[in-house]
Amino acid sequence: MDIHIKRLAAKLAPACLALIVVANYAIADFSDEALQRAVDEAYAEFKDDQRGENADYIPILAEVPSDLFAVVIATRDGKLFTAGDIEYRFSIQSVSKPFTAALIMNQQSPEVIREKIGVEPTGMPFNSKLALAVYEQRSVNPLVNAGAIAAVSLVEANDEAQRWELIHRNIEGFAGSELAILDEVFESEYSSASSNRGIANILFNDNRLYADPEESLRVYTMQCSIGVNTRDLAVMGATLANGGENPITGERMLAAEDVPELLAIMATAGFYDESGEWMFSAGLPAKTGVGGGIVAVVPGKFAIAAFAPRLDEAGNSVRAMEAIRHISSALGVGVFGANSYD
Ligand code: GLN
Repeated sequence: MDIHIKRLAAKLAPACLALIVVANYAIADFSDEALQRAVDEAYAEFKDDQRGENADYIPILAEVPSDLFAVVIATRDGKLFTAGDIEYRFSIQSVSKPFTAALIMNQQSPEVIREKIGVEPTGMPFNSKLALAVYEQRSVNPLVNAGAIAAVSLVEANDEAQRWELIHRNIEGFAGSELAILDEVFESEYSSASSNRGIANILFNDNRLYADPEESLRVYTMQCSIGVNTRDLAVMGATLANGGENPITGERMLAAEDVPELLAIMATAGFYDESGEWMFSAGLPAKTGVGGGIVAVVPGKFAIAAFAPRLDEAGNSVRAMEAIRHISSALGVGVFGANSYD
């Protein structure tokens, strides 16, 4: 190609790209009908998908009825679009992790997360001890177990009761509702927590835990045992979509300028060793939990939450992932542009 034409093309390319992006959003339909339709379609399409297995390393999770399924969109102005078993309460598990990271950003700063926990995806399973050995310094990130236990230990509190109170209250504030611990889940998980206890002790030994190891483990396990329904998760996500202010209660939960850092960690590490696959196919910052819940954030617009107990090998809910991917693609809201996954 003639060099002048090449130069001209190079100059015009950014403008063309901008036009495509603008056009993309201009034709996007975020009407109430379109959002409800996307939720209904995702629900119908994956309702009968039986792939995956309930988590069973926490014994009680194996008993949750496997066919439960719910899908919810919560918008930044507080509207809800729902399908399925939206009232069912399940344990929040790792979906809690970014919200405790947000609490540390509030109390201290995003920088403290980078310095004292790390923001690097491990590329390894959520409970990996190998990751701790490999990345000795900036060991992990707040979304794997090690980093999440470290995050609990980093919360500034005078004692265990206050540590729990701050963490619990923070998650309630994001959800805009009162949330109780599921006692059976806590008992089951805390009495079988030797792997996480090992992680807490390794961190403590490496000066990467900032409170008593057993206290940190116990409060972390309580955090993971909080009962939520799919609507709660959606509102938690919508609070992030709304720049840190809960759209239902109006309570500010995170400074608007800290939201991008939190979403960046969710985008790179929210699905552990499946984080790349997730961003490739769904294009949204999100967080999963072994209870079967997932919440994804469309910044500035809305959140999509889904719940289904059966998990894949990485510990991520099969149908919840499928439903959110479907909605992301149907509404064209991937953060890098519309994803064509189906
Ligand atoms: N509480 C669970 C654990 O520590 C959380 C794991 C998860 O949801 N991925 O193993």
